Amino acid sequence: MILFADYHTHTKYSDGRGTPAQNIEAAAGRGLAEVAITDHGPKSIGIGVAGPETFITIKEEVAALALRLPNIKALVGAEAAVIGSDGRLDLPMEIIDQLDLLIAGLHPYYMPENLEDALLYTLPNLAARFNRSAREKMRNANTKALIETINNYPVDIISHPDLMLPVDTNELARACAGKETALEVNTGHHYNKEEIVRSAARWGAKLAINSDAHYPENVGELASGLALVERLRFPAEMIINAVN
Ligand SMILES: [Zn+2]
Ligand SMILES: [Zn+2]
Repeated sequence: MILFADYHTHTKYSDGRGTPAQNIEAAAGRGLAEVAITDHGPKSIGIGVAGPETFITIKEEVAALALRLPNIKALVGAEAAVIGSDGRLDLPMEIIDQLDLLIAGLHPYYMPENLEDALLYTLPNLAARFNRSAREKMRNANTKALIETINNYPVDIISHPDLMLPVDTNELARACAGKETALEVNTGHHYNKEEIVRSAARWGAKLAINSDAHYPENVGELASGLALVERLRFPAEMIINAVN
């Protein structure tokens, strides 16, 4: 199995360190055919882009690099945060429509849009990090929220399911089965990735194996994810960035 793309990388436009050009060069240096620049949406506290229109700036910057870096296809997407129990993302549809790729993920620290979201979703999720029974309740709420997200937005990838906030990976995989939405095996974080692969296999959902690189030198660092899917015999044709 060969991984030909890394669809999740960050730049200095959010909380990464490199420029889009450096990420694309790094991916080309590792022999990848495709790479995506996917900075955090604007509501993520301390790590998000300055505003939704930043993604248009990144698009223009990446488009201008195409002549200089002809051997790799560079996509511009976003890693949008789920900011309400109804699955709302922190990016307007006008911007999402202009992106090549949409990643949606659960992250604990973002600015809620209103008091109701804050009280019923954002703060309980923060509390659940320290309390087991609250955690189980929020696992249900988060799973429902993500399923709403994939029903209402053109989500290509769900980033690191069950990493920072709890989610039922089986329910999620069942909702993704038959859809274009892939669950992510994220090589940049330590969490129960085996459960993601097993859930995807059980329900027939697709996977994506991404680095979530925040430094250019980590772009395309996918070997641990490749080893995992090979060990569990997950089929390449169900991995959106793999070929046999
Ligand atoms: Zn993330
Ligand atoms: Zn990320």
